Amino acid sequence: MDKEKLLKDIAASIKSCDKCRLCKQATNAVPGEGNVNSKIVFVGEAPGYYEDIFGKPFVGRAGKLLDESLKEIGYKREDVWIGNIIKHRPPENREPLPDEIQACSPFLDMQLQIISPKLIVTLGRYSMNHFYPNGKISFDRGKLVKAGKYYIYPVYHPAAALRNGSVMTDFKNDFKRIPDMLIKAEELLQKSDFGGEGLDKTKGMDGQLSIGL
Ligand code: URA
Repeated sequence: MDKEKLLKDIAASIKSCDKCRLCKQATNAVPGEGNVNSKIVFVGEAPGYYEDIFGKPFVGRAGKLLDESLKEIGYKREDVWIGNIIKHRPPENREPLPDEIQACSPFLDMQLQIISPKLIVTLGRYSMNHFYPNGKISFDRGKLVKAGKYYIYPVYHPAAALRNGSVMTDFKNDFKRIPDMLIKAEELLQKSDFGGEGLDKTKGMDGQLSIGL
């Protein structure tokens, strides 16, 4: 399977998508980008001003914080895959509407199916709630959560961290634990492959496995 080719095809569909109103005002679609073989994927909410101009995710102020935070845990941006729930910028950066999320999120689901990450770091509540609808960001951030077939690790959105000092502290502390969460998620996935504990034990219990290591 050629992951690059499949993801390029999805990106082409995203660029020509008119399933919701957002494409009408956007300059560029932002399909997502990065290492298609990465074990870790970062998922944000929606493109902002600069993302819309450049057609790339997280290239504004929040993106700079994301890049710096990645560096602190030994990753470069190109090492991981970065995408969003919503692929066209909502006007004035307003919050995405439920019908827009419904129209757009199948693209992310397909992208994740192809990349098949071991860990999804969700940035902010919209991203977390896509995988884990009952999650509450202030409660679930910093915990490894099983959501369907994925392990997610919710952290605050970097833009929220830039607006509030205590959110920034939580964001940085949670971010530092990403390498440990990857190890833990891989261990749990491996156990389930061998029919032991782990995913099997939690089947049908989305979000119930909250490992706040
Ligand atoms: N905020 C997001 O959620 N995504 C981006 O790509 C940029 C800012």
